[in-house]
Amino acid sequence: MLTSETEIPKAKESDPKIGNFTKSTPASKIQRGKLKITVGIPRALLFYKFYSLWTTFFEELGAQVILSPKTNKKIKTTGISCAPDEDCYSTKLYYGHTMALKDKVDYIFIPRFQSEHKTNIGCPKFIGLAEAMRSMHPDLPPIIMPTYSKAKLGHGKWRIVQIVFSIGRMFTKNPFKIIRAAIRAFRSHKLWKQKKILSPKELADWKQDKIFVNHPPDLKDNSIPLKIALVGHSYMINDPYASLNIKQQLIDAGVNLITSEQMPREIIEEQMEKLDFNMYFDYERELLGTVMHFLEDRSIDGIIHIIIFSCGPDSIVGEMVSQFSKRNPIIPVLQLTFDELTGETGLRTRLEAFMDMVNRKKKRKRSA
Ligand code: SF4
Repeated sequence: MLTSETEIPKAKESDPKIGNFTKSTPASKIQRGKLKITVGIPRALLFYKFYSLWTTFFEELGAQVILSPKTNKKIKTTGISCAPDEDCYSTKLYYGHTMALKDKVDYIFIPRFQSEHKTNIGCPKFIGLAEAMRSMHPDLPPIIMPTYSKAKLGHGKWRIVQIVFSIGRMFTKNPFKIIRAAIRAFRSHKLWKQKKILSPKELADWKQDKIFVNHPPDLKDNSIPLKIALVGHSYMINDPYASLNIKQQLIDAGVNLITSEQMPREIIEEQMEKLDFNMYFDYERELLGTVMHFLEDRSIDGIIHIIIFSCGPDSIVGEMVSQFSKRNPIIPVLQLTFDELTGETGLRTRLEAFMDMVNRKKKRKRSA
């Protein structure tokens, strides 16, 4: 199985030539003619978990989905200047991505998504972003902002039906088209998850060197690749600019990589059962569960944990990872904090030092 960020959708990136009609153009006229309603989706945060669901749904409804460009210097600078100072780095980037779509689309899609689990929640930032964005930047196009929270508001299937129809009616009066769009979107999301998340059997095969689960390591000689788990939020490790291309840097350095988002859910939940409290931040469970699993089973050579600066949930998990790794020091753990000031040279130096240490440890273990 090979997975890479090239799986990110084919929807168009923002293009100044697109969206060449005014917001007052009636939707009926747009649909009768050649023009399609454009929906902008910022390429940040939950986009990396739900892009397949969202893009399929809007495209099946007949809209044209415009993604913000991949993160770049301009997006970062804009984000930093538009977002509240105290926000985490990833949220600041989200502001930059949203502003990149500002004059190019008819609507921007910023869901207020809190949880898909009965007790666990996502980050509170996810639910507040749309309102914060609208009040701080009233010149943005209309924001499509459905609310969904299983944990706090008890939402379930009926709520999904309500959301599907309330958005669907903005694009078509045909209920069958709306239902078909939703079915295809959920099917596409399920397939994406199956492709991205490993089964326990695939994980076992990776541990036994039967398969690669990312690009094969770039080995310069006949050396044996190091097995490293890269642990961090999907919106950081899959964003080459924000993460300073850490995935590629590791592959180029001969690492056989697995990431926390690829870990089988059964294994994560098995680890969470061992805690004497409920880790209720849903996405942090993935990070902590991955670290706990590999510290316990020792099938890899090292763990790299990415912490996002100013992230509350990350600071809790960061401390726990540090405590667990002190109790179980056989597997080296490197913790890296990323923010807008993190530089590529500094990162490379820290990665090289870590890899040297892991390599020496591996050689000692083999010769013992
Ligand atoms: S979980 Fe952390 S990094 Fe992600 S949006 Fe929330 S505060 Fe930011």
